[in-house]
Amino acid sequence: MERSDVVKKIAQLVRAGAALTPYTCPACGTVLVRLKTGELYCANCEKTVVLVKTEEEAQEKLEVIQLREVRRIVFDKILQLGRELEKLSASEMVDHLRSMSLLLDIYERLSRVQSESSRRHAAT
Ligand SMILES: [Zn+2]
Repeated sequence: MERSDVVKKIAQLVRAGAALTPYTCPACGTVLVRLKTGELYCANCEKTVVLVKTEEEAQEKLEVIQLREVRRIVFDKILQLGRELEKLSASEMVDHLRSMSLLLDIYERLSRVQSESSRRHAAT
């Protein structure tokens, strides 16, 4: 991206409610903005950036991000199974519902892991 485009993009984000931060992108050195969601964003890489203090924290953040991805996949599967229910007979439904119940269980557990992790970081 052209430097002036990056500056324009940052200005746009700030107008939309994002805040400039004293941090820079580890990949390209561009000033990071904090989005309204609380995430740090690099307008040049067009990626959210996670700042960490230690290796351990980096690993933990990475795990949370990966778990979030798994959670999204599980969620999609639940929706998919839900949509398929309509076409099924009552006896076919049993297996489907069993799978859905299992997926919902996993989804709930993944959600719990995520909220525990964000609570932990809010406390420190
Ligand atoms: Zn960057």
